[in-house]
Amino acid sequence: MDVKERLEKVEARIEKACRACGRSAEEITLVAVSKTKPNEDILKVREASQLHFGENRAKELQDKMEQIEDEDIIWHFIGNLQTNKIKYMVERVNWIDSIHKKKALKEVEKRASRIGRHINVLIQVNISDEDQKSGCDPEKLEKILTYGQDLKFTHVRGLMGMATFTDDKDLVRKEFRLLKKLRDEHLHLNGGSVELEHLSMGMTNDLEVAIEEGSTMVRVGTAIFGERNYN
Ligand SMILES: *Cc1c(COP(=O)(O)O)cnc(C)c1O
Repeated sequence: MDVKERLEKVEARIEKACRACGRSAEEITLVAVSKTKPNEDILKVREASQLHFGENRAKELQDKMEQIEDEDIIWHFIGNLQTNKIKYMVERVNWIDSIHKKKALKEVEKRASRIGRHINVLIQVNISDEDQKSGCDPEKLEKILTYGQDLKFTHVRGLMGMATFTDDKDLVRKEFRLLKKLRDEHLHLNGGSVELEHLSMGMTNDLEVAIEEGSTMVRVGTAIFGERNYN
């Protein structure tokens, strides 16, 4: 199967999952996660009208954005972002989906305001407690969102979460449900630059469960681009 056929299969999975729970596939943004994969594969997926692409390494993303030079692609940075890389991400990406500190938000705003560029961000929340580094503690959310309200160039558009890597669908569902609950509990902080409309959750193995639990953005790598040799 080539990447285009795989993309169609993923789109069909999204359609089916939406239909099963009475949602419309138009509510779901598919982010094609192209990390470790060559530009030629990205271009093939792009030709099939895919717009959103995600990468988790700053240098790799920077190189790909320069080499591909397609102004219409909407680039998402989805990895662990070091402060010294924020400047480069802000110059080109449209979304940073993995902000988990007030300090990072502050740096994004500083860099974005200097060049007058608007950036969408998601706050990554740790919903799995298997890996302490994968997102902010749910208790920190209020502080981060309150800070986000006053920003001018940085727009907080929702939350992102990664479920435990497991075949236990009940556990995965419980974690996605927690992310949605956290979003709902913080809706009163909408205002200024905060509008919690998105829930980025669901990947190759769990996108159906994520859609059932309210995901509006799925980040899919393997099912589109094939297995990776490393992450
Ligand atoms: C790699 C990655 C994905 C995609 O994972 P697949 O299982 O290959 O679909 C999604 N989100 C993040 C943050 C990732 O790093």
